[in-house]
Amino acid sequence: MSNTRDGLIWAFRELKKSGILYSFSGNGSIKINENRYWITPSGFRKNCLERDDILLIDRNGNVIIGNNKPSIEWENHLFIYDKDKKVRVILHTHFSRYQEINETELEILNKRLSENSGFKFCVIPEIKTYYEKLKDEIKERSLCDSVLIIKDHGYFSLSDSVFKAVNLIEEIDFLLRSQVIIKKS
Ligand SMILES: [Zn+2]
Repeated sequence: MSNTRDGLIWAFRELKKSGILYSFSGNGSIKINENRYWITPSGFRKNCLERDDILLIDRNGNVIIGNNKPSIEWENHLFIYDKDKKVRVILHTHFSRYQEINETELEILNKRLSENSGFKFCVIPEIKTYYEKLKDEIKERSLCDSVLIIKDHGYFSLSDSVFKAVNLIEEIDFLLRSQVIIKKS
C-alpha cells in the first residue's frame, strides 16, 4: 500500500479490523514534503473515510485541499516529522482497553519488547510530558519504525511507509494485549 490518501484510508480500515480503532478516535498523516501533509479530518469515523475527507495541510495547519477541519493533533504530527526526516507516515490511535495498565506493567512490557522484538518503542508516562520526553528520545536515536506508547492516551506509530506503520501498531498492540491477559490470568 502506497503513501497516498488511499493508503491512509486502507490503514484505518486495517486498524479497525484489528480492534485497535474505536468510535471517532485516532488520526493519521502522510508527509509529502516539508510543507505539505495529508492528514485525517477531526471528528470522523476513521474506518469510514473517503478520499475527499482527507485534507492537505501546510506546515502551519492551513488547509490547502479539503473542506473539513484537520485533526486537532496535527501539531504533534509535525513535531515528529520535523524531528526525524525519515518518518513519512504517522498513525495514532487512542487506547480503548488499556487504561488500567500501570507503571509496573509498562516496565515489564518495555523489557519484553526490548528482549523479544526487533521494534523500537518508547513509553511516555503521560501526554503532558510528550514533547519533553520526545526531545530526550530523539537525542538518542531515530524515531522511524518505532511506536510511542503514551500512557492513558494511545499509540503513535512512526514509519516511512503506511504498510509498516500499520504492522508496527498491530504488533505492539498484540504484545500489550498479551500482557493484560497474563495479568488477569
Ligand atoms: Zn491523541
